[in-house]
Amino acid sequence: MDEFQFIDSIKQKYYKQPSVIKGIGDDAAILRHTDEDTIVAMDTMVDEIHFSKKTTEPFHIGYRVLAANISDIAAMGGKPTSYLVSIAIPESSTLEQLHEIYEGMRALADCFQMDLIGGDTVSSNVLTITVTVIGTVKKDRVRYRSDAKIGDVIFVTGTLGDAACGLDVLLNERENLNKYTYMIERHRMPMPRVTFANACQTISRLSLNDISDGISSEANEIANASKVCLNINYEAIPKHHLLQEFSKEKVEQWVLSGGEDFELVGTVAKSNWDQLVTIAEQTNTKVTKIGTVEEDPTGNGVVLLSKENQTTVLNKSGYTHLRG
Ligand code: ADP
Ligand code: MG
Repeated sequence: MDEFQFIDSIKQKYYKQPSVIKGIGDDAAILRHTDEDTIVAMDTMVDEIHFSKKTTEPFHIGYRVLAANISDIAAMGGKPTSYLVSIAIPESSTLEQLHEIYEGMRALADCFQMDLIGGDTVSSNVLTITVTVIGTVKKDRVRYRSDAKIGDVIFVTGTLGDAACGLDVLLNERENLNKYTYMIERHRMPMPRVTFANACQTISRLSLNDISDGISSEANEIANASKVCLNINYEAIPKHHLLQEFSKEKVEQWVLSGGEDFELVGTVAKSNWDQLVTIAEQTNTKVTKIGTVEEDPTGNGVVLLSKENQTTVLNKSGYTHLRG
């Protein structure tokens, strides 16, 4: 099978989105969005850096790279509609593996009626997949990191640290893998929080970020962009009960800087908190209050972490130090 036959084999028979005027098959795709703004994001995964063939099947490589992209659209408050895939293929990859990668992407894309509208195919020494995702959002409902305000409630969706725990279990070839099925699934097939983010449209202002590197990183991004202090209570961060059997140090590392849970962290006005809780219930989403937005006297933005009655500064990499 040559490149053209391959492209033909992954091409959708029809497109679900009315915005797709031209998909795969010409020099470029053509989209027509009318009254909503377009969101574009891109994410790359490289073999042995972002995944290992040892722990990840081709299907899950495809699923996760698209999940990471969709999660960025959710974090902007948008709806994903289409995607493009650039794939650099080493000689060692089989056609079956390539098809499985595309199947993994399609499985998740189908959840959101997304269309594959183009891409690029090259050969290389290292398997590398870059996805460009396109979505739409109403212009006054875009969720910027810079929108946190003093007095806001800080919240997260789901539980944190699960994906990192799942990966750890796989890497350390623990016995009794069945016991950790849930964590392994959270690592292999995370579900981006599109439904919840979209249901929040009735709330006029939210700051939002998706947890791809770990909450220590994303909370700092909100704090810096909004120039406020995010005061987070470590004990309040929701953790799955399966984490209890692991050491406190490991759990803290997973929860604060594990990443790839693709949950959302955000802030909302106190007056909208009850509304957010109702939306969470309606969309079957676990939402937890983990702290409060305060003034940052330095004006730069900072994240404070309260834990066991001690307050430290939490930096981007998850490292904590005493307040200066
Ligand atoms: P060109 O040479 O004009 O850049 P290509 O021959 O690379 O075009 O691609 C032909 C069509 O197939 C285009 O619509 C392109 O977007 C699509 N395409 C190419 N590679 C991929 C891929 N890996 N995944 C999805 N679509 C692809
Ligand atoms: Mg061309």
